[in-house]
Amino acid sequence: MLKLTRHDYDSLRQHGEETYPHECCGILLGRVDDDGTRVVMSTARCSNTRTDSAHNRYNIDPKELVRIQREGRERGEDIVGFYHSHPDHPAQWSSTDLDEAHWFGCSYLITSVEKGKAGITNSFELTGTDESDKRLQDEPVEVG
Ligand SMILES: [Zn+2]
Repeated sequence: MLKLTRHDYDSLRQHGEETYPHECCGILLGRVDDDGTRVVMSTARCSNTRTDSAHNRYNIDPKELVRIQREGRERGEDIVGFYHSHPDHPAQWSSTDLDEAHWFGCSYLITSVEKGKAGITNSFELTGTDESDKRLQDEPVEVG
């Protein structure tokens, strides 16, 4: 399960509206509770480095990722997930999304943006032990 404040939830959905018709992407930082719930304490917007096909692919600059991770740790926060948008596509992961997901135990949040307006937001946890058995599994999102 993933928990977010209304502020962070609205912010990442708005990010998708701002970058429409291109995908947005960003990082969720926070903590993992004893029961495995990921609690988001802040979000970081990333620039989509893919210029060839930014409407259906996203890529976070590794340098940006490392910087955001370091700044998070200074506040006592870890990376607990990632988010991106699907312009005019459902909030379901694609085979590319699964291929490019490598952070086990993290949440992958997808917001569909229909004609510039944020629609459904779904979250998936990357489960499994390695590249051969990994899956993106539906997980509940609690906002508030
Ligand atoms: Zn995607």
